Amino acid sequence: MVEARGRAAAQQLPRGVSILGATGSIGASTLDVIARHPGQFRVVALTAHAKVAELAALCVQHRPQLAVIGDPGREAQLRTALRDAGLSTRTASGMPGLLEAAQSENAGVVVAAIVGAAGLLPTIAAARAGKRLLLANKEAVVCAGALLLEAVRSGGATLLPLDSEHNAIHQCLAGAGTHEGVRRLILTASGGPFRQWHDFSTVTPEQACAHPNWRMGRKISVDSATLMNKGLEVIEASWLFGFARAQIDVVVHPQSVVHSMVEFGDGSVLAQMGTPDMRTPIAYALGFPERIESGSDRLDFLRLSALTFEAPDLERFPCLGLAYRALETGPSASIVLNAANEVAVEAFLARRLPFAAIAAVISQTLDAISPAAPDSVDEVLETDALARRRAGQAIAQWTTSGVRG
Ligand code: NAD
Ligand code: MG
Repeated sequence: MVEARGRAAAQQLPRGVSILGATGSIGASTLDVIARHPGQFRVVALTAHAKVAELAALCVQHRPQLAVIGDPGREAQLRTALRDAGLSTRTASGMPGLLEAAQSENAGVVVAAIVGAAGLLPTIAAARAGKRLLLANKEAVVCAGALLLEAVRSGGATLLPLDSEHNAIHQCLAGAGTHEGVRRLILTASGGPFRQWHDFSTVTPEQACAHPNWRMGRKISVDSATLMNKGLEVIEASWLFGFARAQIDVVVHPQSVVHSMVEFGDGSVLAQMGTPDMRTPIAYALGFPERIESGSDRLDFLRLSALTFEAPDLERFPCLGLAYRALETGPSASIVLNAANEVAVEAFLARRLPFAAIAAVISQTLDAISPAAPDSVDEVLETDALARRRAGQAIAQWTTSGVRG
């Protein structure tokens, strides 16, 4: 039986992979794992938002059939760069190009690694097209959890989370049977670079992006520093695994060795551990249900000084509490939370908003609008746009008069 499965799998190899957001941190880790298994995977499509030279360099290395640049104004530049490199890679751009990469017939696997709500449409398209969907783009789940899960169901897709916490929970729940036997999910958080800080008035983008354990894109790095990342992950876990807020706990674990845990009714707690390296969850999801080599370092228990756990401080890190509030309020509040956070983080990174005002902008936006629950992706995008406008107004108040909400 094992042999028959092996033969069947061998006939389909190598599996085609599309990477949405290939020039990012998750994109790089995914390409690293794929390059370790040339017989098993081949790169079919790569996408990037605006970095033409970086995308072209990845094409030289990985030889996809399709290269997509999100900004349509840069497609000609991309075409020239690929031609100059002697490649016959086809180009596309804008949302039609991203959707083509997400739905490509030659890709059985789609890695959703665009940052922000910008990844929503291609992620849903990959689900509808029945792909094995390796999901890093947590903002898509936060904004449209129900619609995404419905697309996965109707498209016959397989969703495997790449976020290390959700990947850990997926591993811990394997073979768990029903939800009845689960007491709670325990998400671990590193606490970010400001875990022990009390005064955030002088925080710079460089300090916020200097994460102690993980190397990541700038937006998620700031989210880790405010603990909004953990808040988004609680909402993500609620959708992906079907648990209410009351059954999802967060503990701060500064060493980032335990990636998350599940506590069962019999008192057993299963944890997934490893060095902090996104290639581990990526390899798990690429190989599932087999285990494949990721290139990550071994966890050396003899050199671990301690594994510690503490409660998150919601007073110093109000963004986590705002995410709890949004999850309890309903799906449209999560869209508002996410949109306001994206706009506020962008303003902070552009030095237009102080770090400590990120939570205030989100809170003001949540107070200002409460749209109805969305029935369609279009309605999600409408609420997202409305919340962005409202958050923009809150930021303008900050920058013109320094009004503190
Ligand atoms: P990143 O900023 O390094 O990369 C983002 C990618 O998305 C880039 O390729 C960029 O070109 C593309 N992109 C950005 N805006 C776009 C747009 N408007 N249209 C099309 N493409 C666009 O980010 P990252 O750290 O790789 O994170 C990607 C996603 O994975 C995020 O949702 C993040 O929360 C999630 N995630 C990341 C990590 C990590 O360790 N980096 C861990 C867990 C989850
Ligand atoms: Mg995570």
